[in-house]
Amino acid sequence: MSRGGRVLAPHLAGTPPADPRHTVGIDDAGETPILREYRAVKAGFPEAIVLARLGDFYEMFGPDAEVAAPILGIALTGRNFGNAGRLPMCGVPQQTAVQYIRRLLDAGKRVALWDQVGDVEAGRLVRRAVTRVLSAGTVLEDEYLHPAAVSRCVAVSPGAGRVGVAALDVSTGHLELSELAGGLDTPALAETLQRLDAAELLTPEDSALPQRLLPHAARTELPAALFDTARADERLRLLTGTVSAQGLGIDRVPVARAAAGAVLAYCERARVVLTPELLRIEVHEPRSTMRLDAQTVRNLELFVPLGEHGLSIMSLLDRTRTPMGARRLRAFLYEPLIDVDAIAARAAVVETMVRARDSRRGLREALTRVRDIERLVSRCVQGTATPRDLAAVRDTCAALPDVQAAAEAIGDAAVSASARRCRAPDELLTHLTALLVDDPPATARDGGAVRPGADGELDDLLTAGADARVFIGALEARERERTGIRSLRLGYNRVFGYYIDIPNAQQGNVPADYIRKQTLAGSERYVTADLKAQETFVLHAHERAVAREQALLHAAMIMVGAHAADIAEAAGALAGLDVTQALATVADEGAWVRPRVDASGVIDIVEGRHPLVEEALGPGRFVANACRLDDAARIIVLTGPNMAGKSTYLRQVGIIVLLAQIGSFVPAAEARIGVCDRVFTRIGAQDDLSGGMSTFMVEMAETAAILRQATGRSLVILDEIGRGTSTYDGMSIARAVIEHLHDAPHLNCRTLFATHYHELTALAERLSRVRNARVEVVEEGDSVTFLHRIVDGGADRSFGIHVARLAGVPASVLVRARDLLAELERSRPLMQRAVRDADQLTLAISEPAAHPVVEELAGLDLDALSPLAALNKLAELHERAAT
Ligand code: ATP
Repeated sequence: MSRGGRVLAPHLAGTPPADPRHTVGIDDAGETPILREYRAVKAGFPEAIVLARLGDFYEMFGPDAEVAAPILGIALTGRNFGNAGRLPMCGVPQQTAVQYIRRLLDAGKRVALWDQVGDVEAGRLVRRAVTRVLSAGTVLEDEYLHPAAVSRCVAVSPGAGRVGVAALDVSTGHLELSELAGGLDTPALAETLQRLDAAELLTPEDSALPQRLLPHAARTELPAALFDTARADERLRLLTGTVSAQGLGIDRVPVARAAAGAVLAYCERARVVLTPELLRIEVHEPRSTMRLDAQTVRNLELFVPLGEHGLSIMSLLDRTRTPMGARRLRAFLYEPLIDVDAIAARAAVVETMVRARDSRRGLREALTRVRDIERLVSRCVQGTATPRDLAAVRDTCAALPDVQAAAEAIGDAAVSASARRCRAPDELLTHLTALLVDDPPATARDGGAVRPGADGELDDLLTAGADARVFIGALEARERERTGIRSLRLGYNRVFGYYIDIPNAQQGNVPADYIRKQTLAGSERYVTADLKAQETFVLHAHERAVAREQALLHAAMIMVGAHAADIAEAAGALAGLDVTQALATVADEGAWVRPRVDASGVIDIVEGRHPLVEEALGPGRFVANACRLDDAARIIVLTGPNMAGKSTYLRQVGIIVLLAQIGSFVPAAEARIGVCDRVFTRIGAQDDLSGGMSTFMVEMAETAAILRQATGRSLVILDEIGRGTSTYDGMSIARAVIEHLHDAPHLNCRTLFATHYHELTALAERLSRVRNARVEVVEEGDSVTFLHRIVDGGADRSFGIHVARLAGVPASVLVRARDLLAELERSRPLMQRAVRDADQLTLAISEPAAHPVVEELAGLDLDALSPLAALNKLAELHERAAT
């Protein structure tokens, strides 16, 4: 029975014609052998969509089919079960299943592959088993992974005032453990999940997970019993082949170990194979690196571009040549360092590579031949490597000596030490070279991957098959001659195989060794012992050769897997060399400089540039700007019209600091960076409608988080705080924030504060460590030219109407706006606003309007006023100002 041109599996075919009256559940769908087995499988994996392999298709039944069909964009069909009703079904071809599985995973579904594991034999149900459970965090198949990205399966386990985090990258076997102070609501957890690229989050069931963690990953709840340190230790001991978990150096993170137990149990159930050689455990020390929050990652465009330039810092820096290098670069960006010596060590190697331009080119060239050895090894351990994967391991092993030589040529001790680690066991290269043809096929299904001469048994099978084909091919002519029967014919059918057909008239001449097999109307069919023997060769030789070849490939995978630890070591060194040459290449091509990074509280940048805007504008068009923050100047209040370049400047300083702290050169003529423990940014208007927060609410929530978390060593970048509300509200909040950053004893942190409230520039007179800066503009008549140059001093007014003109607002609207502005400035001069500001006394700035209220205000001796007297005075002044 066919459905849309496909042949249905025999077990399901032959059912009565469709009766679409009602849908039947999987349990009521009647008894077919397949459905009986399917129910048992589904009961074991109720949370997954079970894809049942039936012939050339993966089929889904019942509710699974109903959920999957719309996601996959395929027709929902069904099978009828008599009066019971119709069982919904849908299916996808096995050949193209990958793309469909990807779609299910992207939709946050879990997929269990219930595959054929035995041979197909007529009349018997094929043996099937769940071979893989795929979910966002457990994919390791190449088809589902991006080379530069990692997607980890992360278990979090709250306990004893801490959160344990265990993150497993199943594609490489790398397990990272860490512990954070606090509970599941600690902001550090969201940042950790972001840093780890958590694709799937495993939590004990019924744990209250804060909303903000959910966007990071698909959530999977597991029985709380899986998060148990003692059980975890036992599992770790077995998986690492160590005598006791204590020997692994993970004693000090018991809560993280509990989480590790859960993630390992979960991955085991997903049929991820981990071996002692593959599994690498590392304890992450949160204090050794800078924490980056989601806003800063977004605002500084570290990974995702915001502007129309379409570039991110990652894409700009990614001159790596290997996937390992790209992944290491990503890790660098997520974890800027805070230790001056560690930064200096990285930057020194980058500097050497910048200088060694020719040798660096040689290294880049050599690295091009290196493949994703980390993930290839993991696939070998899983037993899923293709012949091409094995060839990629071979080619990488062959490329390593050249990488080593190229790296040594750079002539730096640290580079040479890395180079020496870039080695693979000799026997691996020798074996794989002898085993594989130069360009093996994509799959091992049809043979052809193993080099002739590599294996005697395979050669014999191939030769026997070929000989038999020749024998059979020549048999017809030979037998005609032997028997003298010219009408003798060699034929083949599926029931009898090869046969010799002799017309009735010639029966008298049939030789004695012919064995009669079948009688037809006009002829008899015979076989001979020889023919049968050769037939067996022909029919089975190919199959046996393929099986032999697969066994050889499998043995090769085991061999690679056995060297997983050595290869991981080489992969780590390759990643380090690659990321360093990438940073050096960017620095060299972009004329970047090595910053001086120290423990001072200074940021001193000469001719700094925003690398993304500079790249987008093209050579020579970006206006470089300086920035100096030190003990005397902690806060810069930056004013200037919209579109003048304030945000660009703010971002550029943040980016330069982060680049310096990952060990990179920076886009500037000179830079000194006193290490920052955090970089906080609040830039741009974002609303979080899904979270039910208005633009202003988001702005305030982000500001609050910064004020709570910043320390005296942080860099705080605030753009247009308070613009989401009314002018007075906004200005008051902006001012109070600056005062707090300046005065709070634990803060006094380096701050860049951009604002279009030019009134705030008056703060520099009152707060000793505040400096003003403005973006220079040139006015000629009605037009304004932005020079994008940052100079000392504050702006004295806004240029909103000029910007509106630039943006193409119609002339009539502009004229009206200008009139209204003039009117407003006449009727409600700045002084009045100043008076209405609760703590108002210094806001009266540039405009010398001699309003009597202002004069009185200026003359007040604040220190001599009690709070009550001040309030009374305020009320009086307010009344007079309003009249
Ligand atoms: P708004 O207040 O509207 O956000 P802004 O003052 O923050 O404006 P930016 O967004 O930083 O302005 O810059 C506006 C545009 O000006 C940028 O897209 C860029 O094209 C250009 N620009 C900014 N800084 C520079 C610079 N230093 N050199 C050259 N062009 C620049």
